Amino acid sequence: MKIGVLALQGAFAEHEKVLEQLGAECIELRQARNLSEPYDALVLPGGESTVQGKLLKELGMFDTIKSQIENGMPVLATCAGAILLAETIDGQIKGQPEQYFGTIPMCIRRNAYGRQLGSFHTEAQVAGIGTVPMTFIRAPYIASVGDGVEVLAVVEERIVGVKHKNQMAFSFHPELDPDVRIHKAFLKMI
Ligand code: GLN
Repeated sequence: MKIGVLALQGAFAEHEKVLEQLGAECIELRQARNLSEPYDALVLPGGESTVQGKLLKELGMFDTIKSQIENGMPVLATCAGAILLAETIDGQIKGQPEQYFGTIPMCIRRNAYGRQLGSFHTEAQVAGIGTVPMTFIRAPYIASVGDGVEVLAVVEERIVGVKHKNQMAFSFHPELDPDVRIHKAFLKMI
């Protein structure tokens, strides 16, 4: 199993470690030519969504990845990655951030936990998986979801995990905790 891991910026190496531990092979997607290598699924890591979106556009990677997602390639997106998948960013006019893929009908709020609570750790249920550790770093939360979006996790009444067709998105960073069950569930989607 080969996983394309977007490796422009952010916490991609941590995802690779977990996936390799589970027996998958990772291909780092750093430039447009990497996108023609065969891979079965995609990881969009945490980091800074505005920087990632800008680089995706500048490096000519955006359109290919967007169509891979729209054509059903399984995707695991965390934090900034989840922001890239949101159809609407809270506080921004729909369609305005053209550097976002917008492939999950949901509205996400960036940097949603305020300064003091910018980073925190908790444990909560993820549907179909059980209670998992959750590390939030300047995390977004999902303010609302549209049709066909399954809510996977809620922390303090805020949605922090969803599934939509081939895409799983989380506000937190499962790659930073030793629990590998979310990555395992992702590999099962392939
Ligand atoms: N605050 C970041 C953003 O808006 C996301 C933070 C993260 O990925 N840990 O893109």
